[in-house]
Amino acid sequence: MTSTPLACHPHDHSHCVTEALAAADAVCARSGARLTALRRRVLELVWASHRPLGAYDILGVLSAEDGRRAAPPTVYRALDFLLEHGLIHRLASLNAFIGCNHPGQVHQGHFLICRQCGTAIEVEQPAIGAAIVAAASAVGFVVEGQMVEVVGLCAQCREAA
Ligand SMILES: [Zn+2]
Ligand SMILES: [Zn+2]
Ligand SMILES: [Zn+2]
Repeated sequence: MTSTPLACHPHDHSHCVTEALAAADAVCARSGARLTALRRRVLELVWASHRPLGAYDILGVLSAEDGRRAAPPTVYRALDFLLEHGLIHRLASLNAFIGCNHPGQVHQGHFLICRQCGTAIEVEQPAIGAAIVAAASAVGFVVEGQMVEVVGLCAQCREAA
């Protein structure tokens, strides 16, 4: 992919949500996993924007919808399911979750996070992963996972400044 990620500029976000839910259906159908109503709703909430969402934000929305308190373990299990199936990523620096742009494909999580608006842009740059593996193997370290979280200012916030 060479085009700028959608998260970088204004766009019709309802398309992102529709596509993400369709992709999730496809991924789950392929692996025989069940995307229950709750798991689907949690995924939809994570996809509400391109800004990472914390588990407590999700709980808050669900409780408001249900009119009763959603049980935290249920929401955490739904998030674990979505993580396991590669539908979302967890950003440790924010303790929050973001929808994955290309679920069902093996890839690492390399993110640019805007400190002003909170937008998280998933970048696809194989050279980053390769450089990490090279640096690690030089010291005899085996890479098992890569979550790279880079902080800065996005194009829109720079323009506004
Ligand atoms: Zn979008
Ligand atoms: Zn991803
Ligand atoms: Zn920004």
